[in-house]
Amino acid sequence: MILSEIKIGKSVEGKDIRALKTKEKSPKYLYLLAGVHGDEVEGVYVLQQIIDWIELLETLGIPLIIIPILNLDGYCAGTRVNAHGVDLNRNLPTSDWMAEFSEQQFHPGPKPLSEPENEALVKLFEQYPPKFMISFHSWRPLLNYNGECKDVADFISQFNKYPVADNIGYSTPGSLGKYLPEKHDVPVITFEFPKLKKNKSLKDIWDENKVGLLKLFTSEILLGKFNNPQS
Ligand SMILES: [Zn+2]
Repeated sequence: MILSEIKIGKSVEGKDIRALKTKEKSPKYLYLLAGVHGDEVEGVYVLQQIIDWIELLETLGIPLIIIPILNLDGYCAGTRVNAHGVDLNRNLPTSDWMAEFSEQQFHPGPKPLSEPENEALVKLFEQYPPKFMISFHSWRPLLNYNGECKDVADFISQFNKYPVADNIGYSTPGSLGKYLPEKHDVPVITFEFPKLKKNKSLKDIWDENKVGLLKLFTSEILLGKFNNPQS
């Protein structure tokens, strides 16, 4: 399957932010996103394996938009935050956005949507409306769901045994998990992989997630969300 590349905007330092898109036009898309936090290479790696797998398929049957790395400057610098020092997952224009922050790494920016990377993302949602979002992060193994998607989290958890939770234990104002359900009525899975360690390689992380993720993309649980016009 050929994925076409689109440039969706520029990072603070002027790098082109890329998205990959399936050919079919659709009123709604499945979004896969990684590299919101530049130092979370685990999610970027897993998403690249998914892209490689999709490119070998004849067809998938789900209209897709993939953003392999949103925070390119952070990814190159090995930082969570972007080149302005802002946490992109605290900077979205939600009803709970807050200027206050506890630690520098959670800096929400001077105002909601101040960062070009998030501006590009929000514009993309207008051009290609989302139906479902899976955002890949790393922290400690967790499937965090926001909106109506516990079924998808439970499905993946059968395979990787990660806990399923509707919150991560502390508040995340201005996050994507808040923004999409609130502004677009779109559910979000925030997929938290374990962090790389001496005894845990990127390949180990992919291996423990491969079966569940690849089954998900061919499962009725996800396909049904796109095939049923009522849903
Ligand atoms: Zn993260």
